[in-house]
Amino acid sequence: MTGDVAIIGAGIVGCSTAYFLAREGVRVTVHDPVGIAAGASGRNNGLVEHPYDAPSAPLFSESVTLLRELLGPAMPAEPVGALLLADGEAGARELARHYARFPELEPEVLAPAEVRAQEPLLADGLWGCRLRTGYPISPREATLAVAERARAAGARFALGEPVGLDALRERAEHVVVAVGASTTDVLAGLVAPGAVRPLWGVIVLIEMADGPRHPIIEGTVTRGLTTGTITDEAPFTLLPSPSWLAVGSTMLEGAEPRGEDWAPRLLAQGARFVPEIGRATVRGTLVCARPKSFDNRPLLGRVPGEERLWLASGHGGRGMSLGTASGRMIAEAVLTGDERGIPADLRTERLLGAPLPQSVTR
Ligand SMILES: Cc1cc2nc3c(=O)[nH]c(=O)nc-3n(C[C@H](O)[C@H](O)[C@H](O)COP(=O)(O)OP(=O)(O)OC[C@H]3O[C@@H](n4cnc5c(N)ncnc54)[C@H](O)[C@@H]3O)c2cc1C
Repeated sequence: MTGDVAIIGAGIVGCSTAYFLAREGVRVTVHDPVGIAAGASGRNNGLVEHPYDAPSAPLFSESVTLLRELLGPAMPAEPVGALLLADGEAGARELARHYARFPELEPEVLAPAEVRAQEPLLADGLWGCRLRTGYPISPREATLAVAERARAAGARFALGEPVGLDALRERAEHVVVAVGASTTDVLAGLVAPGAVRPLWGVIVLIEMADGPRHPIIEGTVTRGLTTGTITDEAPFTLLPSPSWLAVGSTMLEGAEPRGEDWAPRLLAQGARFVPEIGRATVRGTLVCARPKSFDNRPLLGRVPGEERLWLASGHGGRGMSLGTASGRMIAEAVLTGDERGIPADLRTERLLGAPLPQSVTR
């Protein structure tokens, strides 16, 4: 390729793609009508976490390496460990069996006394399953840092101006659409409406004298995000990122929810697991949409039927964990014109002929 590349969307995926293209000397501009990290990448839990999905797992290990390179010491050297909670021993053993598919996670069942030894904040009687994953980062700062690396490599940013797909397609040789949950709006008529849908997350920001040492996650959550079988609209997580301590988060389809409507329910649910949450100072709520693809895996590659229009979206609840490697892969495919470096299970060609749901599986 010899011409310019226009990227639409300055989230973690768009900024990473820009970095890897600019590094190769490509003239690249990132367009975003709001700004860098204005979408989900600036308002999430900031946990770089295993995707618990075999085809996506290589994106995670590559992203861990890339984030170390891009963020330096802001990316922890070792995982802090994710603590999944269960009501009883059977539930904890079931979690450990389930995650044993990924030996690198080293799942370990913890009896209530061991759980309390790990996390004294937790209520009595909870069983746990600890997984060797979880690198807490500040999502907004991480996205800004990747954008800065892209800028230093020569990428331009056109921010705060309306962005039109047709105009960019006329101006640039290639266009990469990396607009997260807005994908099917931007690509209306080019991809089916069910290809990527918003799955709304409300998180409540709190302050407590002593935060947890691990990300604490209700055991059903990780599986729900991977399979799409979400059984609870407001399951419990308590995730410490370097920026904030967040209780959450909702998994809601449909219209954008209001943070204040969901905060009481999230806090009440949280206090069942961590009683101290009932006494914590509430600092506010954040609301944003996970870009959830029809089969819960990233969608990377050409928009079907288009030669010079590319899609990098569908990272659901794992964009911080997978998005930098996705950016590297899309950049390489755009540069070479060859999509074979993208694993088949993650390529956009699976949009062709897929029975796309009109609503997300629950
Ligand atoms: C509550 C919650 C918690 C999460 N926690 C984690 C976590 O702990 N770990 C993890 O890995 N992931 C997490 N995620 C998922 C993660 O936030 C997303 O997968 C990731 O941020 C998606 O990045 P992106 O670049 O694809 O999209 P975004 O970050 O949403 O960026 C898209 C950009 O496109 C722009 N845009 C939108 N519409 C248009 C348009 N029409 N034209 C032009 N530009 C447009 C927006 O302004 C935005 O800047 C969480 C998500 C939520 C909701």
